[in-house]
Amino acid sequence: MATVMESRYAIDTSANLIRFEVWGELTAESLIELLDQVRADPRYVPGMHALGDYREAYGNWDYSEIQRFRDYLMHIAVPCEVRWAALFRPGNLAAAAHVLILISEAVGSDIKMRMFEEPAAAMRWMRGEDRPGVSMSHEFLSGRVEVRTGDITGLPVDAVVNAANSTLLGGAGVDGAIHRRGGQEILRACRELRETCYPQGLPAGEAVLTTAGNLPARYVIHTVGPIWGRDQQAGVLLASCYRKSLALAANHALESVAFPAISTGAYGFPKEEAAAVASTAICQALAQADAIERVSLVFFSDADRDVFLANQQFG
Ligand code: ADP
Repeated sequence: MATVMESRYAIDTSANLIRFEVWGELTAESLIELLDQVRADPRYVPGMHALGDYREAYGNWDYSEIQRFRDYLMHIAVPCEVRWAALFRPGNLAAAAHVLILISEAVGSDIKMRMFEEPAAAMRWMRGEDRPGVSMSHEFLSGRVEVRTGDITGLPVDAVVNAANSTLLGGAGVDGAIHRRGGQEILRACRELRETCYPQGLPAGEAVLTTAGNLPARYVIHTVGPIWGRDQQAGVLLASCYRKSLALAANHALESVAFPAISTGAYGFPKEEAAAVASTAICQALAQADAIERVSLVFFSDADRDVFLANQQFG
């Protein structure tokens, strides 16, 4: 184990990101020295995010050292929100970092700091993927359709569409997430539908509406996508899911509807083809549903969103 602090850093200008790693005994002074070195680098731009890896460092910061580093951060702050993620193992330094974050938040620093144990979680936070409303958005049909990434269960829309299975009793993927977060009320409404209208289950391509339980949405529209390789005319059925869901929303005078990428998960529908089918069906359905103001197409990852954007037929 190194006894004095050693470090290395890299500046990724395309990602607007500084990465650094430190080993050995970490003091406020040595960290400030490192950051001064980074700031003197010609590739450094004020406002860059930072990912600091302190997992191989140790130290025993007292309050005055924490305060000294806090003052330094205030001094280098820029007038825009910057995200600094720090990787720690549980222990002394992590405890000091926790205090540092608390006092920095109390004085309203523009450098937002968070601690992580996992690099992947730190990167997600830095990219803003934990903030569905802030991730990149793309609009079509004069703003009536938006394409975004995020978790559909957190959206305060009139209706969230569920990629259900024909039992209507919950499943994996988005279905599981909706039932988990929405609670028992949704399941009760689905059971009632099974007992009354759909004793054999909801056929693929059909859509039904229930309460949204504890979700921030008002309603859930459950639609059953086709299973790729099993259902014939899968494209026709997938188009029907989008069309019938939107018709149902229009019949209930709903204005905003959010869709996941139906059938492209467990049901295996190729994402490229699904993008063409979904966009065409939505375009046709919206032409007959003036009251629907906003359709959000919500993808779970940036990669899925980008496949959709590359294959959509909105124009
Ligand atoms: P299906 O069975 O119709 O294929 P899945 O739920 O397996 O449905 O997957 C549909 C899509 O929804 C997949 O692309 C998956 O990544 C995505 N997904 C899963 N959970 C969520 C969520 N909470 N919010 C948005 N999309 C989600």
